[in-house]
Amino acid sequence: MAIRLHNTLTRREEELVTRDPGRVAMYVCGPTVYNDIHIGNARTFLSFDVIRRYLTWRGYDVDFVQNVTDVDDKIINRAAEEGISSAEVARKYTEAFLEVMSALGVTEPTHRPKATEEIPGMIELVERLISAGHAYESEGDVYFSVRSFPDYGKLSGRDIEELMVGARVEPGERKRDPLDFALWKAAKPGEPHWPSPWGEGRPGWHLECSVMSEKYLGTSFDIHGGGADLVFPHHENEIAQSEAASGEPFVRYWLHGGMLQVNAEKMSKSLGNFVVLREVLAHYPSDVFRLLALQTHYRSPLDFSNERLDEAQAALERLETVVRNLRWARDVLPQPAGAGEEKHAALLASVERAREKFAEEMDDDFNTAGGLAAVFDLAKVANVFLSENPRLSAEDIDALGLTADTIVALTGVLGLRVAEVPEAAYPHEVVTLARELAGYEGDDESAAVAALLAARDAARAAKDWTVADAVRGSLEELGLRVEDTARGSRVVVGG
Ligand code: AMP
Ligand code: ZN
Repeated sequence: MAIRLHNTLTRREEELVTRDPGRVAMYVCGPTVYNDIHIGNARTFLSFDVIRRYLTWRGYDVDFVQNVTDVDDKIINRAAEEGISSAEVARKYTEAFLEVMSALGVTEPTHRPKATEEIPGMIELVERLISAGHAYESEGDVYFSVRSFPDYGKLSGRDIEELMVGARVEPGERKRDPLDFALWKAAKPGEPHWPSPWGEGRPGWHLECSVMSEKYLGTSFDIHGGGADLVFPHHENEIAQSEAASGEPFVRYWLHGGMLQVNAEKMSKSLGNFVVLREVLAHYPSDVFRLLALQTHYRSPLDFSNERLDEAQAALERLETVVRNLRWARDVLPQPAGAGEEKHAALLASVERAREKFAEEMDDDFNTAGGLAAVFDLAKVANVFLSENPRLSAEDIDALGLTADTIVALTGVLGLRVAEVPEAAYPHEVVTLARELAGYEGDDESAAVAALLAARDAARAAKDWTVADAVRGSLEELGLRVEDTARGSRVVVGG
C-alpha cells in the first residue's frame, strides 16, 4: 500500500510519489536560536522526526535537512539585552537546542546548515533574482517584487488584492510596493553584517531556506515541513524566491503541523504562555512528552496540560509493565499443556493485526494516534492472555515473546524506547542477604535475588515458614517486594 499525505498546496491527501525512486528529500525549517525552545516548537520538530522515522521504516532513504537561523532581529535584540554579541547568543542557544533535541530522541538531520555559513549562496540567489527582474535594490536593501510572481499566494490561498488591505511600508523600509519583502537588509550600526554587491548587510529571514534546500536537496524536492504558522508569509515567500529563480516547482508536498496550545491559545514566546522543553524534560522522561505529542494527529492542534502529561506517563508505564511481564514469561518453565491451540492462534492473529493496523494508520497521513491505538490494543490482549493462562506451553512462550518484540518494534518506529526502560536496580545489600540466607557466594545482584527466591521456594515447599518469611521480610527492608504469581514468584523494586 502507498503512503498518503496531506499536501497544504493542493489541500488534498495525495499518494507519495518521490522525485527519485526509493529516496525522500525532506526539509524542515529549524529554530531561530535566541532562547530555549518551548514545547510548541518541540512538537513540530518531533512530528517531523516521526515522519522521517516512518519513511525510513517503510524502506525509503531519507535525506533530511534542517537549518539553524543564527542571524535575525530577535537574536540581535537578545544580544543587546544580555550584553553579549549576536554570535555568542546564537552559539549558546544552538548548543541548548541540540542538547534538548538529543534528549528528546530526535534523529540528527543529514545536514544542519547555519545561515551565517551560507551567505555566499544567499548573495548569489539575490543576484539571480535581480537579473531575472524579480528583485530590486533600494539604498542598500534588496526587495523581492511580489507582483512579479503571479503565483504568489498559492500556498496560503490568499490573493494579492486581499493582501493589499492593511499592507503598508514600515518606517525605515525602502520598498516600492507594500507587498514586497526584504531579501537583503543594509547593515545598521552594531548589527552583524557581511559584504555584498549592495554594500554591507545581512540576509532577510526567508532567503536561507530557499538557498539551503536547493544546495542540499536540489529543486523540486519531496517534502517541506514546518509549523502551520509558517505557511504565510515564510513558506509563501520561499516558494516565490525559489520558483522565480529556477522556473521549476520548489516542493512536491508541503506538510504543516498544528499548533500546541494551552487553554485553546497557541503557545508562543510573544504571548508569554510558554513552557520550555528543558523544564518538561527535567521532570518527566522524554518519552512521556513524545507519547503525549503522538496521541494527537500532527496536523491537529495539540492541547497541552500537566494533567495530560501525567496521563501520558501512566499510559507509558502501562506499556512498559506489559512488556516487562511478557519478557518475564520467557523465563518460566514451559508446561506440556498451555493455553490451548485456539487461544494461542488468537494471540498470534492479534500480533499480525496490530502490525497491519499500525502500518495502515501511519500510511494514512502519519496517523500516530491510530498507530498507537493498534499497539495499546495488542498490549491489552497480551495482558488478558497472561492473566487467563497460568500454564504456558513452549509455543505460548514464543508467541508472548513475539508480542513483546512487536510492541517494542512498533513503538520504536515512533521513536519511543519502551524496551530500554531498565528494571530499577537492586541494591547491593541483596548480595550480603543472599550469603546469609541462601548460601550464595557470588557478587551479582540479580543472581543474589534469584538465589533468595530459590531458597524461599524451597523453604515454602518444605513448609519452613520461618525461613520463607525471613527472606520476604529482609527483602522488604531493602525496599523490595516479593510478588507471588501463578507462574512463580519474583522480586519487584519499590511499591
Ligand atoms: P521559530 O523558532 O519561532 O521559527 O519556530 C520553530 C518551529 O516551531 C517552526 O516550525 C514553528 O512553526 C514551530 N512552532 C512555533 N510555535 C509553535 C506552537 N505553539 N506549536 C507548534 N509548533 C510551533
Ligand atoms: Zn524556512
